Amino acid sequence: PAKPLFAGELPAGLQRISNIVAVSSCKGGVGKSTVAVNLAYTLAGMGARVGVFDADVYGPSLPTMVSPENRLLEMNPEKRTIIPTDYLGVKLVSFGFAGQGRAIMRGPMVSGVIDQLLTTSEWGELDYLVIDMPPGTGDIQLTLCQVVPLTAAVIVTTPQKLAFIDVAKGVRMFSKLKVPCVAVVENMCHFDADGSGSQVVQQFGIPHLFDLPLDQLFLLLVTVERLKWWLILKAKLPRRFKTLEYVS
Ligand code: ADP
Repeated sequence: PAKPLFAGELPAGLQRISNIVAVSSCKGGVGKSTVAVNLAYTLAGMGARVGVFDADVYGPSLPTMVSPENRLLEMNPEKRTIIPTDYLGVKLVSFGFAGQGRAIMRGPMVSGVIDQLLTTSEWGELDYLVIDMPPGTGDIQLTLCQVVPLTAAVIVTTPQKLAFIDVAKGVRMFSKLKVPCVAVVENMCHFDADGSGSQVVQQFGIPHLFDLPLDQLFLLLVTVERLKWWLILKAKLPRRFKTLEYVS
């Protein structure tokens, strides 16, 4: 198993964060990062101080979704800390902003990179840090969940019946670690899908299920105009995420 990210007490960089919310999925490509980023900007739009930590070192997607002016993380050489980049008032840290290509690393190395990016970043005072978790329930995810005091987890899935088994795995991981799963987001759902999300919600007694439909217009906007995409989703999403007040 991967060694713990940090032994002992919580690193100074994380101590002034009120809520840490993990957005997790069991497979890649289900829209976890999309949900994480929109959750973050929705919370920021509600007046919260927010940061996003993209913990997906193998396939960091934050850099493709936001366009900060400064696409490289800066270091504070004296304090030996990382200064998060900023886009529309949200602090962002991702391996994709570290100026390196896609990572080919073994598990322990990945844990090291996650540790460094997460704990030496100058997050400052935050109401929410949204962690875009790497997909799956392996060692890296488990360690991350064990060492970071997560306030809540949001699980993103797709409606396919087969996804149920994987989602259940994710829910079990969080419940074993005593992290409350506050919501399941069933993404890219068509019509009135009675898919894996509702099954999970019923079986595990998760308080909220949100449907996020597959939206062609949305896709177009992603490619054409990122800022507009953000604004449109911002207008759309508070209704869906309003129960995240639950987290505070
Ligand atoms: P993950 O983080 O789970 O790998 P992403 O958030 O990167 O997934 O999403 C994968 C792709 O699907 C992206 O290109 C994203 O723009 C697209 N996508 C996600 N959710 C939707 C949606 N509801 N409608 C249309 N496209 C979506």
